[in-house]
Amino acid sequence: MEKVLFGVDVGGTTVKIGLFEADGDLKEKWEIPTRTEEGGKNIIPDIAGSIMVKIAQLGINKEDIIGVGMGVPGPVTEDGTVLMAVNLGWGKCNTNKELGDLLGLPVKTGNDANVAALGEYWKGGGQGYKDVIAVTLGTGVGGGIIVGGKIVCGSNGAGGEIGHIHLEDHESETCGCGGHGCLEQYTSATGVVRLAKKKLADSSKPSVLRDTQVTAKDVWDAVKAGDELAIEVANIYGEYLGKGLSAIAAVLNPEIFVIGGGVSKAGDVVIDYMKPYFEKYAFPGTLNAKFALAKLGNDAGIYGAAKLVLE
Ligand code: ZN
Repeated sequence: MEKVLFGVDVGGTTVKIGLFEADGDLKEKWEIPTRTEEGGKNIIPDIAGSIMVKIAQLGINKEDIIGVGMGVPGPVTEDGTVLMAVNLGWGKCNTNKELGDLLGLPVKTGNDANVAALGEYWKGGGQGYKDVIAVTLGTGVGGGIIVGGKIVCGSNGAGGEIGHIHLEDHESETCGCGGHGCLEQYTSATGVVRLAKKKLADSSKPSVLRDTQVTAKDVWDAVKAGDELAIEVANIYGEYLGKGLSAIAAVLNPEIFVIGGGVSKAGDVVIDYMKPYFEKYAFPGTLNAKFALAKLGNDAGIYGAAKLVLE
């Protein structure tokens, strides 16, 4: 029988689990609820139980299982120590050992955003490249840095926290991190809505966005429809994002940026409005960077987790 491996993506409400062949073909995927009560003490045993049931159902031999990779929402150091995972109720823990002992299999853990980046590097928008920056423009802005095919965790598990690059000195609102003027405050889904509302208040221009409950999708739809005010918002958005990515490029000189998350569902238009500003601000030696949309969607986490085991 062919060798297989499991990729686990632990979220605050559900745990996604994928069974993969060693070459990265996804054979099966399923979800179980995340039981966060009592300090999340059931989460690891639940995952172990679900994997054991699947192994039994499919009659997989233990010798054919390479291991289990896992992404968790919190800082994780190079050796797989989870420093904390607030949304799961976890403090510092060693999930490699806890899950590994329950399953009798090798387990590797990483931060969920970094692991998702590894997934996009392996089988998604960054496939074929070694130096990949994944940028997730969702409710917040996250990222993952892959250099030479390896995740950059950083010394305290905070590598790849690109949403908190400081871009704006004159910001009165506080970011989720406690700072002011972070990339996330302008380029997340809530960020683009905030930019649109500010523009609507400051300008008297007519717009389809006026007197509506503006969402990020509305803004990009209006941009695509040629709404002048929405286009002004897209330029402000693009300037913040382009500036942030140019700073990352100066440090890492990546081959490609892979843009994912809810905002990226608007499509290439997000890249189109960002790219001129990236080119304006980037160090010339970094202008070789390509830009692509993420391909794996919500499955990036299980793909990357599986890849973690192959490292
Ligand atoms: Zn911040």
